[in-house]
Parts: sequence; structure tokens; C-alpha cells
Amino acid sequence: MRSIYTSDDHEAFRKSVRQFLLTEVAPHAEEWEEARRIPREVYRKMGEAGFLGILFPESLGGAGASIFHALAFLEELPRSRMGGFVGAVSVQEFIATGALWNHGTEEQQRRWLVPSIEGRMVGAIAISEPDAGSDVAAIRTTARRDGDSFVLDGAKTWITNGVEADFIVVAAKTDKDAGAGGISLLVVDGDAPGLTRTKLRKMGWHCSDTAELVFEGVRVPASNLLGEENEGFLLIMDTFALERIVAAATSIGSVQFCLEETLGYMASRQAFGRPLSKFQALRHRLADLFAELEAVRQLTYHAAWLWQEGEEATPEAAMAKLLASELSKRAADECLQFYGGFGTVEEYPMARLYRDARFGTIVAGTSEIMREIVAKTAIDGVRFARRPSREKASAAPQAPAPEEPAPSSAAVEAAPAAAETPQAPPPPAAPEAPAAAPPVPVAVPTSARELFASLPLRLRTDRTAGWRATFHFTFKDVDESDWTVVIDGERCATRAGHVGTPDCVVTTTEKTYLAIEAGTQSPETAFLLGKVKVSNIAAMTRFVKAFRKAGR
Ligand SMILES: Cc1cc2nc3c(=O)[nH]c(=O)nc-3n(C[C@H](O)[C@H](O)[C@H](O)COP(=O)(O)OP(=O)(O)OC[C@H]3O[C@@H](n4cnc5c(N)ncnc54)[C@H](O)[C@@H]3O)c2cc1C
Repeated sequence: MRSIYTSDDHEAFRKSVRQFLLTEVAPHAEEWEEARRIPREVYRKMGEAGFLGILFPESLGGAGASIFHALAFLEELPRSRMGGFVGAVSVQEFIATGALWNHGTEEQQRRWLVPSIEGRMVGAIAISEPDAGSDVAAIRTTARRDGDSFVLDGAKTWITNGVEADFIVVAAKTDKDAGAGGISLLVVDGDAPGLTRTKLRKMGWHCSDTAELVFEGVRVPASNLLGEENEGFLLIMDTFALERIVAAATSIGSVQFCLEETLGYMASRQAFGRPLSKFQALRHRLADLFAELEAVRQLTYHAAWLWQEGEEATPEAAMAKLLASELSKRAADECLQFYGGFGTVEEYPMARLYRDARFGTIVAGTSEIMREIVAKTAIDGVRFARRPSREKASAAPQAPAPEEPAPSSAAVEAAPAAAETPQAPPPPAAPEAPAAAPPVPVAVPTSARELFASLPLRLRTDRTAGWRATFHFTFKDVDESDWTVVIDGERCATRAGHVGTPDCVVTTTEKTYLAIEAGTQSPETAFLLGKVKVSNIAAMTRFVKAFRKAGR
């Protein structure tokens, strides 16, 4: 359908993608599904055709094209007839490599990103763990510094391309006590000693390699660290909107393909002397699906446009991902019904479409997590900040830079809410939490727990150099009432409970403090009215100025 966002150029690109898929991929669907593997050769062919670096700058071998070229590509991918192929290629091109593009050094990009764009390397991103999926901040894999290396221990699961991958971007705790503020991203070579990779057997997405990874004392050179140490959570969040737009586009493509296949079948299948496509009861259900498809496509394009323009796109991307993946699941179910018995046999396309559509509402953040994000925006008034501009993005004409939370996976969505604040008392010595507060979006907190989880991420290190102070907060209206914040130069740590000797004691209610954070209550008025009691006004004044405001 026509769109204000696309032109003849996009349509020509779409046709070349479709041609490639119809000649080089779809004819092999049965074979690759059976083998549960995508041959390396097809990545090389896609690289040669220029399909694996659509958004990446030309200086890295990419096309430097717009997000709408990427959407055309993603919408066509389901014509491969394999949901697993769609998942594997999306991770390769947009998710695993996204962090390298935005945060990799030149050397890291030369080593892993350029060969990925050429199709000579396959990448994976490993965030989800057996005990932590939606709640990324709860991951347990650790990376301990040892000289010029990190030593990785832990387990990851559900990792797309995990067995095949030449490199894996791994999220690990480099500071076990700092919750979300203690996660780092490390690039691990696929053949690193101590790494065991096992393929999982799934109900669908058969050709896609989904793996369990176990790290036992895996040594990773410190030069493989992406971005800064303890900044990984922010880097993950930085790609979330793009990941959701990618997932929405592939679901849209899947619905389109499913409807086209079904229409072809219904036109040729006769019942009661006429084609199935002539029965009004069925036509109206198809009409509903076409209408919903077009609505969610336009929403996805709008989210993509916001993203490309550098505007905040978190809620729109979450809505698009939620609606597109749920529609894909429902459309596959409806269309299978229109096939009757033939819908259930493997010789027809519906059985696989039905199985594969089931994955969409789980991968790249579940529908429940998408709803959480929408609810936070629509009901709680949480604002997500506009993504920061990126130098690297501007290097590529029209090429956008991924925005907030990301890997494919995951889970990360739980972002602000999930940021963990440790329960155990901290050591009496200096806090270990990260200090730097990069200018990335941090949602306005909606609870004391979220508030204290977000403080280390918002610290303005330019204002705290040489300052050491301990603050005790007591919120009188909630069960989890006592909190400690320690600022030590460029570091900040928060803990549940009161520990250490405070330089300042703050007594208030969660309601008042959150209103101050949200900007609906002036701190001065709250203080004058006695809603906030502070034992050391000078220290508190400095404290207030030491943190970037949430939602910016
Ligand atoms: C085929 C496949 C490929 C994948 N590829 C990757 C990959 O490449 N890399 C990677 O890191 N991960 C990957 N994942 C993992 C995927 O991101 C997670 O499965 C997903 O984030 C959910 O996590 P979980 O499975 O641990 O479910 P859980 O987090 O345990 O959730 C279980 C259920 O509880 C719900 N739930 C959880 N929290 C809340 C809440 N706060 N409110 C309401 N409901 C909630 C969830 O929505 C879900 O329905 C993949 C998964 C699959 C199936």
C-alpha cells in the first residue's frame, strides 16, 4: 500500500530483495528446516548483494540507506518461507551488529562488523539467561577482571545464531553489587576455550540455531569490551526501539505473506460449487485482517520515522511490536482455518507459518513487557527522553542510530523498572557502582525502587569529583522505606536499608519524592510545607544538583 514514507526507489529495492529470496532462499526451505541449519554460503551471497549492511555507513561497507529501505527488506524476509531465517538474519544485521556499530572502536568494527556486513562472519547477542529473561538487570553471568583480560563464568540461553556465531556480544556483570549499573558488554570469539554451545530443539523456527551457552572461565581480552565498563545496560537499552521496529516489520511481512498464500488457496479451492474466496463469512474475516495489517504497518512506519529523525520512539515502537506480533499470531491461526484440513499438513505452507508466528510475541521482548511500556507511558505518564544524537549515525547519509534498549532479546525492556538495587548491606568502604551517567534516556521513576536504581545512571560526574557523602532516605508511606545512597567522587551506589553513617538524613513520602522527580511538585515548596525533612540542607542542595533529571 502507498505510504508518504516510501518512494519508487524503496519499491525497486523491495523487488530486488524479493527476487533474491525467491531464487536463492525459498527453494531450499524444506532442506534447511530439515537440517536445522542455514548454510554459510547464503550469508556470503546476501553480503555480496549488499543486503547485510543496509543501515551501516558506506565507510564500513554498508549501504548507508534509510530505515525505510531496511523495512522493505524486513517485510520481504518472510518470503523465505522460514520464520527461523527471518530471526537469524534480523539478529545478524540489526541486533548483534547494532552494538558494534554504535559503540565499537574502529578496531572492533574492522574485526567483527565489516566481515558481518560482507557475510563472512555470523554474529549473536547473548543477554537472556536461564534465570533472567525479561528482567535483564537480574543476569548472573559474571566477568571478573584479571590483568589484561576478563574471565567469564555463567550461562546464557535462547541465543539466536549461538552455535554458528563467529562472535557473540555477551552481557555480563562486571560489578555484582551494582544491579543494572554493573553490566558490561564483551565480544567473545565463538571458539573461545571454556565456551560450550548446545543447540536447542524448538517447536518452530527450525532452521534458526537457538543455543544454550555455558561460559567456564572463558578469558576475554579487555580490548573486547564494548563501550565503557559497567555501561552495558545502557548500551543494551540504546538499541531497543530499533529492535522492536525490526520485529514489527518482520511480523507485518509475515502477515502479508500469509494472507497472499491464503488468498491463492481460497481462490482455487471449491466448496458448494464456488471458490472459498466467494463466501462472505470468510471474505469479511479476511477484510478485517487486511485492515488491521495496514493500520499496524502505518504505525510501524511512523515509529520508524520518529526513530530516524532522532525523536523519542519508545512507546510507538513498543505499540508497533505488540500489535504486529499479536496480529501475526492471530492471522496465522485464522488462515490455517481457511485451509481446512490442508492447513495442518506439512506439504502446505500454513503449518510452518502457524508454528513460526508463535515466536513473535516472545522474542525481542514479550507482549506483556511491551504492554508494560505502553502502560507506563499512557497510564503513569512516564516520559522517555529523546535519544542522543550520534556522531557515527551522521556519518551515514540518512542512516539512523539505534536508540534505547536492545538486544534482541530481550528482555531488557524491563529497563527502568527492572534495574535491580541490591538488598545486602554494602561494604563500609567506597561504593563500587559505576559513576558515569551517559546522556541516555532514563524513564521518570514510578516507585522508590526505580528511583534508587536510576540514580547511578543519572549521576553528573562533572559535579561530584572529590565529593564523598552518605545519604539516608526514609519514605514513610511504603514498606520498603529505608534507602542509602553513597556518592564517592565519580561513583554512586544505592542500597535498600540504612548502612553507614549518614551526612544527611531525608524523611519524606514516596509520593512526594516521585512528584518532585516528575516535576509536578517543587522541591522548595515541599520543603517549606514540611513534606520533606532534611538534616543537612547544604548537602541536600548539592545532592539535588548532582543528578541528571529523569526523562531527559
Ligand atoms: C527463538 C528465540 C530466540 C531468542 N533469541 C535471543 C537472543 O538472540 N538473545 C537473547 O539474549 N535472548 C533471546 N531470546 C530470549 C527472549 O528474549 C526471552 O525469551 C524473552 O525476553 C522472555 O524471557 P523469558 O523467556 O526468560 O521469559 P520470562 O521473563 O521468564 O517471562 C515469562 C512470562 O512472564 C511474563 N512476564 C515477565 N515479566 C513480566 C512483567 N513485569 N509483567 C508482566 N508479565 C511479565 C513474560 O511476558 C512471559 O509471558 C530468544 C528467545 C526465543 C524463544
